[in-house]
Amino acid sequence: MERAVARIDFEAVRANCARLRDELRGAAELCAVVKADGYGHGANDCAAAALAGGATWLAVATAREAEEVSRRFGHVPLLAMGALSPPELDIALGAGAEVGLWSGDFRTLLAARARAASRPARVHVKLDTGMGRLGTFDAEEALALVRACDADPNLELAAVWTHFATADEPDSDEGYFEAQLGRFDEFVQAVKAEFPEVLAHAANSAAVYRDPRSHFDLARCGVAVYGLDPFQGDPAERGLAPALSLHSYVAAVKRFPAGQSAGYGRSWKAPRDTWVGVIPVGYGDGVRRALSNDAEVLVGGERRPLVGTISMDNLTVDLGPETGVEVGAEAVLIGAQGEQRIRAEELAARLGTINYEITCGISTRVPRRPG
Ligand SMILES: *Cc1c(COP(=O)(O)O)cnc(C)c1O
Repeated sequence: MERAVARIDFEAVRANCARLRDELRGAAELCAVVKADGYGHGANDCAAAALAGGATWLAVATAREAEEVSRRFGHVPLLAMGALSPPELDIALGAGAEVGLWSGDFRTLLAARARAASRPARVHVKLDTGMGRLGTFDAEEALALVRACDADPNLELAAVWTHFATADEPDSDEGYFEAQLGRFDEFVQAVKAEFPEVLAHAANSAAVYRDPRSHFDLARCGVAVYGLDPFQGDPAERGLAPALSLHSYVAAVKRFPAGQSAGYGRSWKAPRDTWVGVIPVGYGDGVRRALSNDAEVLVGGERRPLVGTISMDNLTVDLGPETGVEVGAEAVLIGAQGEQRIRAEELAARLGTINYEITCGISTRVPRRPG
């Protein structure tokens, strides 16, 4: 019995990657995105499972993440997708990561740092086709950068890329995704006319399912790798299996007379005599306080309403006026128990957020274990 543990099903990660690969068009390859410690699942172990499932690339956001992943997977192409400050750039290059590029200034810096390290840097020139984040909006400027990178002996032109803003909103984006795709496709044609070997990549998980034309040479998939649904629905409908479950146990079972409150601020009072189970996890573990009085926990194979305010280290559930639940019973906050299942998507909907934030938010206090 453990206070709180996130069990990670690495076989599910492997199988999800195999499903994603099957989804990809032609020779397109799968890049498994393991940033933010593998969306809270553990970056390195998930990377190993993803590679076993057919991923051939890895991607992270930061230089430190690149450093950690490259220590174990130095032989696998690794893209550091985020912005890199000068010291971070040295770390990323030291880790052998390929890096994104979208300005002449950064190209100059990159070439100098690569020369200092006596190793050419592999670059991915980023066109911002509408995300409004990293990358240049100007396709002419991006093409000029492509040519400059190709001509620089300190740089190796690896790829051009972009990122979609609304791939996960097929019903409400008013053609924005198609417009981004069209802009990128035009750019890729211009680039490949001059540099046929250069790779192109654009798709995230949602885009992979939404439109095969977005697959190009490589798809950068994160959320689906972990069996979370990119469209916030049921991942099973896409053959994806959630890899993470979050477990605790019932540390105390107490008789509450009607009117007795649970937790800080007395936000819940027993409407009748009842049994309350105390579960020793809380917002310190990433179970968000905003779920107070608005979530369910699986105990004894049933959904039990979470009652009272979630504390840092404890929360309480109403077990009902009669209960067979005893101290030591397993509690499942995310995952299945008996016939019941609580998905990250369900908690996200209750919180007005997305499943990504649920698994990323499980704190480092919670050990991740295979299972
Ligand atoms: C995080 C990220 C991805 C992965 O997106 P998912 O929706 O998790 O598949 C792909 N590309 C970029 C640039 C990212 O930042």
